[in-house]
Amino acid sequence: MTGIIEFFKNLPKKKCAKCGNAIVNEKADCYGNICDDCDYPGR
Ligand SMILES: [Zn+2]
Repeated sequence: MTGIIEFFKNLPKKKCAKCGNAIVNEKADCYGNICDDCDYPGR
């Protein structure tokens, strides 16, 4: 079961799916590829 791990290891730097900025702080929550700015529900 290492296939999926290899897949993620080979991924390039994450980019926000909304604004396209590089994601510095990787999070393990369900939001996935969204940066901190876009992750704020109040904005
Ligand atoms: Zn963003």
